[in-house]
Amino acid sequence: MTTVALKDVTKVFPDGTVAVDNVSLDVNDGEFMVLLGPSGCGKSTVLRMVAGLEDPSSGAIMLDGALVNDVPPRDRRIAMVFQDFALYPHMTVGDNIAFPLRLSGVEPGPRGARVADVAGALGIGDVLARKPSQLSGGQRQRVAMGRAIVRRPGLFLMDEPLSNLDSGLRAELRAEISGLVRELGVSTIYVTHDQAEALTMADRVAIMRKGVLQDVGTPTQVYGRPATLYVAAFLGSPRMNLLEASVYVHLDRYVALNLGEQSLYLPWDDIRTRAVAHYHGERIVVGMRAEALTPVAPDAPGDVLRGRIRYLEHHGHESLAFLDIGATAIVVDELGGPVTEQPGGPSRLRRLGNVMQRLTGRAVEAPP
Ligand code: ATP
Repeated sequence: MTTVALKDVTKVFPDGTVAVDNVSLDVNDGEFMVLLGPSGCGKSTVLRMVAGLEDPSSGAIMLDGALVNDVPPRDRRIAMVFQDFALYPHMTVGDNIAFPLRLSGVEPGPRGARVADVAGALGIGDVLARKPSQLSGGQRQRVAMGRAIVRRPGLFLMDEPLSNLDSGLRAELRAEISGLVRELGVSTIYVTHDQAEALTMADRVAIMRKGVLQDVGTPTQVYGRPATLYVAAFLGSPRMNLLEASVYVHLDRYVALNLGEQSLYLPWDDIRTRAVAHYHGERIVVGMRAEALTPVAPDAPGDVLRGRIRYLEHHGHESLAFLDIGATAIVVDELGGPVTEQPGGPSRLRRLGNVMQRLTGRAVEAPP
């Protein structure tokens, strides 16, 4: 299947808007790549340039190793699925799916067989005779997928294909789409601003902000070892705790992170210690996810942070405790933990930040 390579691609619109700023990105054969970022960060523009609907201002777009900057969209073996998947309202579902095949001159016999195959795979084989107006939102989206799949493209480009659907259906369809695309083995670039969608569907996620690519990696990599403070703060709910700390190495025995009124002590044999030890004397930003902190009883022994509970938030499957620790507020996933105090009461947190990052002022921008 098609491989994609963007090399130093920039898009400046005539009004001076820099929508995409020097982006380089590879999509491997059969890979499901998700472009993730807030509204206006340039995701759709990247997709449209890969499709050939928009010309890059500079840089190279390669498909299967060949430069395609000047290749028209119809010659790129690409199928696109958009958020407002326009189906032809006067045609039946079957004719909608068959349409691209008819355009490319496939005979009625093989055409019907391909449509039946695709409709079967998508679970819409029984509605082929209906018109789009007689379908549910989810069925209409499957028809749009069917129309994209039926030509057997080398590359799928999907722009927020689920954003018009309700949340239950979205969750159902995201599993279906990623399953189906993997079965077909077609390389895919999928644009979304929904991080749950990105993290559950992607082989790799590319995170953009203001036209600039911030990080590319597997969901585990970008979540666990974000490349920039922006990515650290953007991914995950609740947001990662980001605390400023001064680093002090004590005789190669442990590292103290001074958080103001309190300190964290990392033993020398802790792998996280290596990452921060060479910032001795500097101020860094330490990232700790809520789920990496374990609440303990106020009288528990050991290396703990002390906080005062500001408020508790119950989400059914988890409860979050928002605490002030000195001058800083942090959030703790208290599921299974012994925090039973009322808001305003004292609590202790065992520090287990498994995502201590080298997020220094030099390497990153400030979080939003
Ligand atoms: P969304 O999730 O809202 O679709 P996006 O991340 O896909 O956003 P783009 O649609 O790629 O973002 O837009 C990136 C930037 O380029 C935005 O600032 C947008 O306003 C701008 N932009 C897009 N198309 C044009 C255009 N034709 N002329 C000028 N600016 C444009």
